[in-house]
Amino acid sequence: MAFVITSPCIGEKASDCVTVCPVDCIVEGEDQYFIDPSICIDCGACETACPVEAIFHEDELLDEDKVFLDKAKAFFEQQ
Ligand code: SF4
Repeated sequence: MAFVITSPCIGEKASDCVTVCPVDCIVEGEDQYFIDPSICIDCGACETACPVEAIFHEDELLDEDKVFLDKAKAFFEQQ
């Protein structure tokens, strides 16, 4: 399980989440930041820190936001 960064990050990229993540699993992509779901320890610090409320736990994603988990997985597969 992991937290997932969704659409409000696109064009915002505030990066507050990167600063608070204790395991450094948030990486900047071209249009948004991504959380590596294989490293995230579900601490929730990034969810609280995000100024645009873009971050949700995988279990609480809206149906239309589930694509962002797939987008994150694809991003890290390319790394
Ligand atoms: Fe990092 Fe915690 Fe956010 Fe996971 S939930 S990305 S470990 S700050």
